[in-house]
Amino acid sequence: MKLLMAIPLFAVLSLAQPKYDLLLKGGHVIDAKNKISALRDVAIQGGRIAEVSARIDPATARKVIDVSGNYVTPGLIDIHAHVYAGTGEKRSYAGDLSVYPDGYTLRVGVTTVADAGCAGWRNFEDFKDRVIDRSRTRIFAFLNIVGNGMRGGRYESDLNDMEVKPAAEMALKHKGLIVGIKTAHFTGPEWTPVNNALAAATLASIPVMVDFGSNKPERPLSELLTKKMRAGDIYTHIYSGLRGEQTESGHPNPALFEGRKRGVFFDVGHGGGSFLWRVAVPLIKDGFLPDSISTDLHNGSANNGMKDMLNVMDKFLAMGLSVDDVIAKSTWNPAREIHHEELGNLSVGSPADVAVLKLETGNFGFVDMYGALLRGNKKLTCELTFRDGKLVYELNGLSRTEWDKLPAGYRYQGDASWDERARVFTPATKK
Ligand SMILES: [Zn+2]
Repeated sequence: MKLLMAIPLFAVLSLAQPKYDLLLKGGHVIDAKNKISALRDVAIQGGRIAEVSARIDPATARKVIDVSGNYVTPGLIDIHAHVYAGTGEKRSYAGDLSVYPDGYTLRVGVTTVADAGCAGWRNFEDFKDRVIDRSRTRIFAFLNIVGNGMRGGRYESDLNDMEVKPAAEMALKHKGLIVGIKTAHFTGPEWTPVNNALAAATLASIPVMVDFGSNKPERPLSELLTKKMRAGDIYTHIYSGLRGEQTESGHPNPALFEGRKRGVFFDVGHGGGSFLWRVAVPLIKDGFLPDSISTDLHNGSANNGMKDMLNVMDKFLAMGLSVDDVIAKSTWNPAREIHHEELGNLSVGSPADVAVLKLETGNFGFVDMYGALLRGNKKLTCELTFRDGKLVYELNGLSRTEWDKLPAGYRYQGDASWDERARVFTPATKK
């Protein structure tokens, strides 16, 4: 008897409640995983993608935002960033050279970063407590093979602090959070950092990301790419030209193609000192494109040629890549590289990390690490960013109503079902 009573009550509730929390209407969806590049409406419910179709009835959503004229993409994924800030250590990426991510990410559509080796097994849990667990940006980490992480040359070249077992154990303890092992900044002639990073990564079943440090004849790039690195490992700083990526005649080192054939991924890692037009333009002309676009965000790159994720993506637009290609290399490709295939796509059921991006046209300029200029006529800006279905950034108020059309004495207009900021205000009062 009670069950019978419950059925009509449910029916009434489902009529009264909109099916979706949020509907992004009229945008051009780019979802590389699902091979969509077309006008689509996107509905979000309970923090997840609920429907993507050519037309979704606005009446089914509690909140509708008109995003026509914009691209709607998965939240951008930057797999090379440095965000272990706040320790107070000078001249250290486990300190002052890193940045807290939220002020650099959400405003350019980035919802996920992977920290590229700021911490090793000795300080990873401090990093986790200090930054990872307290940020709105989704943060993963490559664990440095150096136990002390990126605390400076004295630590980073200490062959005795590149222990395989504790690194692998820490990676396994934080499986899913630690997405790879990093080796970086090594100045010596030995293969030890690469070998030990590979050994730890093998034990933990995760990839290695290699910043190949100083160029040393004892450990040539060709040997790294054709013998050492495995399928799924990531070579970063591909357009730096610092380690023989480019031959003297200006072409890609054949080892790059060889490595790619073996399944090695190639990542941009722009940074403060790892991107040159005189390397990138000819390599791309010769068909050597990156798998993933990333910033190498840190204190020294954010206000120089790198700037932010969208600026790095713009550089690839300026070199002739399509918007679709640049988005794929900033969403689905990096998601696969870090084995987080639930991200970087807009499949139904995926976390609703979404960027709404506008493509501006005009006269723009893009600067490399040595201050050389390349002109371009396209620029991506970020209109809206959603993390788990909640608005975490907006530029031009696309989701809002003009102030003089609101009731006198209006209060906060957002609703906690789609607007993160609504939490900090008392609910809007009706008058
Ligand atoms: Zn870096």
